[in-house]
Amino acid sequence: MTWETLDVVVAGAGPVGLMQACELRLAGLHPLVLERAAEPSTAPKANGLCGRIVDTLDHRGLLARFAESASYSGPFPGFPFGSVPLPFAVLGASPLRGMALPQPDLERLLGDRARELGVEIRRGHELVGLAQDGEAVHADVRGPDGRYRVRTRYLVGCDGARSFVRDAAGIGFSGDTAPDLLRLGHFHAESTAGLFDDVAMEVPGIGPLERGWNRTPRGRVLVTSLRPGVYIVGTYETGGPPAGSGTPMAVGELQDSVERVLGARLPLGEPIWLSRTRGQARLADRYRQGRVLVAGDAAHLFPAGGSSLNVGMLDAVNLGWKLGAIGTRGAPPALLDSYEAERRPVAERTLRHTRAQAALDRATGRDGDALRDLLTELFALEQPLRRLGGLLHGSDTRYGDHAHPLVGRFVPDLKLSTETGHTRVAALLHEANPVLLDLADRPDLRAVAADHHVTVVTARSDDPSADTVLIRPDGYVAFAADGSTVDDLRAVLATWCGTA
Ligand SMILES: Cc1cc2nc3c(=O)[nH]c(=O)nc-3n(C[C@H](O)[C@H](O)[C@H](O)COP(=O)(O)OP(=O)(O)OC[C@H]3O[C@@H](n4cnc5c(N)ncnc54)[C@H](O)[C@@H]3O)c2cc1C
Repeated sequence: MTWETLDVVVAGAGPVGLMQACELRLAGLHPLVLERAAEPSTAPKANGLCGRIVDTLDHRGLLARFAESASYSGPFPGFPFGSVPLPFAVLGASPLRGMALPQPDLERLLGDRARELGVEIRRGHELVGLAQDGEAVHADVRGPDGRYRVRTRYLVGCDGARSFVRDAAGIGFSGDTAPDLLRLGHFHAESTAGLFDDVAMEVPGIGPLERGWNRTPRGRVLVTSLRPGVYIVGTYETGGPPAGSGTPMAVGELQDSVERVLGARLPLGEPIWLSRTRGQARLADRYRQGRVLVAGDAAHLFPAGGSSLNVGMLDAVNLGWKLGAIGTRGAPPALLDSYEAERRPVAERTLRHTRAQAALDRATGRDGDALRDLLTELFALEQPLRRLGGLLHGSDTRYGDHAHPLVGRFVPDLKLSTETGHTRVAALLHEANPVLLDLADRPDLRAVAADHHVTVVTARSDDPSADTVLIRPDGYVAFAADGSTVDDLRAVLATWCGTA
């Protein structure tokens, strides 16, 4: 048994664990990532990213690089809310931004980035035991060459829905599993369907199937395509036969299910991936137990698509700089309490709207159709569209109640004029260092910020609401004021950025 002492161990190299490792490394720590699987997963689970995480990738200078691998990146002209369309195009500027990027590509890009930053990722190393005292966490690992133990100051469980870390730390995971079974498959096809086309597939004997969910009294069939040449097909059945337990999903099982619902089989090519799943709505009772924390699917599961990666990867971004501030800047350990205080309510809110979406999806018969028809009318109006767009994007997230309208919110991408030219806020956060925007040329405030190793940018901006803005590494505003004093700024810096 060998011993190592580490800053942070991250369990799991899924999208959240990899994002976590990158953020920890940017914050000056040396994380070790332990991943049970010997090879990266090829399961095309998520079809892409949408919401605030896309703006955060922009802050890190990664947006263009990730977009290169995406079949679409930009504002979404529409999005389903529990199979009710949200026609964002009518607003002119869509409130929801995203990219169509299959999860294996996302994980490859994040893995490359982590390695560039010098993160050590041990594949084929499973976390199998943990214990903690006031000083450290002791983690038992089963690797290809046998078992060993590591000692680490903190351990973050990004180990997915069945999180070993969550269970070993004694954190409950309350919620429920949906009764209805989703059968899902990705198939090669001679598809010419574009990302936002209405018609997804022509079916002999039936005609065109709409993109999205196609309903009959016997259930619903999903047909969609997010990349040329690939179809995604799924079914939910009302009162269908039970799934063969223990046997892998087969094309025939999916086609039989499609036939029971639609009355015809689909012209599908070679399968790429097949699975059965049931939606889950769950939330960790706590996000932290001593020196052990959870993030991503280990902390929350949402019963409708589109939000899991946004919320999960943003957990990692919120936590990374805080552990870094405690580890390298002398920030108070109580800063860590703000992780759960900020992120768990976001997951709670997401759980509410994804539960509502699942209920809307599930509602059957004439009553269900009437509900969806009525909401289709309502959701075409500007106010509900803006509200739901903000909800899905996460742009309505605010950490805490504050007098100044900017504080607690994601910083707007202000255009800035500096001595050396024009820039924008997103370009200042690539290194994930806190940034002080000095918009009134205040040498006294600049000196205080520099003492705390904060990036200081003196500029003129088109936003007149504050002349001093302190931006946290995750892009949220920690402090904004007009005519602030040195003492105001010192107090805020001591809380968020550590001692000078
Ligand atoms: C069919 C499907 C479609 C989806 N579509 C979308 C979508 O469109 N948009 C969206 O946002 N989300 C979607 N999701 C959800 C999304 O895939 C998950 O939210 C995401 O994978 C969560 O990332 P994670 O890193 O938290 O966990 P995971 O991706 O589950 O990664 C956890 C990692 O931890 C490793 N691990 C587990 N235990 C241990 C251990 N003891 N030691 C070491 N390593 C361990 C696992 O091997 C795994 O690599 C979809 C999910 C499914 C199943």
